[in-house]
Amino acid sequence: MTEQNRVENVVIIGSGPAGFTAAIYAGRANLKPVVFEGFQAGGIPGGQLMTTTEVENFPGFPEGITGPQLMRDMKAQAVRWGAELYTEDVTFVDLSQRPFVVRSDEREIRTHSLIIATGATAKRLHLPGEDIYWNRGMSACAICDGAMPMFKGVELVVIGGGDTACEEATYLTKFGSHVHMLVRSNKMRASKAMQDRVLNHPKITVHWHTEAVEVVGNDLRLTGVRIRNNETGEIRELPAGGLFYAIGHKPNTDLFKGQLELDETGYIVTRPGSVATSVEGVFAAGDVQDHEFRQAITAAGTGCMAAMLAERWLSEHGLAQEFHSLSESHSQPSHATASEAESTVEEADFTESDEDGFDLSKTCHEGGYALRRLYHESDRLIMVKYTAPTCGPCHALKPILKKIVDEFQDKLHVVEIDIEKDPEIAEAGGVTGTPTVQFFKHKELVAQLIGVKPKNQYREVIQANLN
Ligand SMILES: Cc1cc2nc3c(=O)[nH]c(=O)nc-3n(C[C@H](O)[C@H](O)[C@H](O)COP(=O)(O)OP(=O)(O)OC[C@H]3O[C@@H](n4cnc5c(N)ncnc54)[C@H](O)[C@@H]3O)c2cc1C
Repeated sequence: MTEQNRVENVVIIGSGPAGFTAAIYAGRANLKPVVFEGFQAGGIPGGQLMTTTEVENFPGFPEGITGPQLMRDMKAQAVRWGAELYTEDVTFVDLSQRPFVVRSDEREIRTHSLIIATGATAKRLHLPGEDIYWNRGMSACAICDGAMPMFKGVELVVIGGGDTACEEATYLTKFGSHVHMLVRSNKMRASKAMQDRVLNHPKITVHWHTEAVEVVGNDLRLTGVRIRNNETGEIRELPAGGLFYAIGHKPNTDLFKGQLELDETGYIVTRPGSVATSVEGVFAAGDVQDHEFRQAITAAGTGCMAAMLAERWLSEHGLAQEFHSLSESHSQPSHATASEAESTVEEADFTESDEDGFDLSKTCHEGGYALRRLYHESDRLIMVKYTAPTCGPCHALKPILKKIVDEFQDKLHVVEIDIEKDPEIAEAGGVTGTPTVQFFKHKELVAQLIGVKPKNQYREVIQANLN
């Protein structure tokens, strides 16, 4: 069969716990699933757990595991069982014709069945001033950005009253001088245990019946939040160096509007006790169809159900094509296969240098000492990558930058700065969020890219600034 005529057994959209669990099960069923991991639309590759630190409630890890590590392991397991991954956003689906059509900017794939695991995205309030101060003191992920130098020792505000708001407020007490939680009514939605944690914390004040109405700041950054007591109508300014939204999520279902049954809040409707959707052969797993539990384990559980139902549906309709050679090669667990998967998420060989270890001929470096030496001694373009250990998007950026660095070996120097280890460097560089990538040439900042960008944006900056 030519590439053009090829029809996949199953395409999975999303690479959170639901998507990767579906990929593991479909892979083990010899279906050779194709996974669109996503890139920027509706989250990041690896999903929401890439933005958290410890996951303490996923079974099998008595000591807990970090979110990014759990997702790296799930990805490695999916690859080991033959999943074909594309780190691309799906931009179009057509469920009105069979096989279904799934398209990204790079490819179009036809598939007999589809598993939607696109999760949910953090909501924002779009307050007056938000466009100015977004990423300059405002964030929707305390776990990702809380460790930034700009949030150290200043008053911080968290908006929301659910579990996420409580978790984030507690986490931020490690950095801010005090944390204010704004709660719209006189009660929180969070579990009792989480509420007790914030209500008893000496560095957290809960403001009941309180809403944010505007964010204010100076030329550089946010300096305060105007808040309104919705019982008394009183408006006042709360001085704050940081504002974090924790007000819930919107299911990532825009692609499917008009093609699948959605409920009034946009979640995909599945049959009771099943993950089958209103279109035969299309299954939905994880947070995209679950506004109640929204946990990694329930996402994984429904991902398993989706893969098993997809396999059953393909078999019943005589459509399943089995890829036996894969199952045979994978029936003996091979370290080579698992480590191949890991290598797709690992970065180039960075080593922290000191006076003795610094080697100007090497491309990749780590830490403040290396940056200072390169800044003064390198005649190459210098790419400085600012990251934080708790920053999930930083993990998503790793394989992208690795490919770029491979392309331009010996033409540039790359330095990774961990903003927790070298906060003064991040501050001097004016860095307001991770990941940030700055490019220096002849001691001058020539470009800066904040967040995770498509590969070609990094490539274009490098090409434009090579000697
Ligand atoms: C800060 C935080 C802490 C949490 N802590 C815990 C915890 O300790 N324990 C727990 O059980 N749960 C926790 N959760 C909840 C848990 O992360 C979610 O329930 C779970 O990640 C949902 O998994 P999912 O696979 O449904 O979707 P997600 O994890 O949201 O993944 C969605 C995936 O879809 C992709 N995607 C979206 N749109 C597209 C598109 N157009 N094309 C291609 N791909 C697309 C995204 O890139 C992403 O990979 C936490 C959540 C947050 C935000």
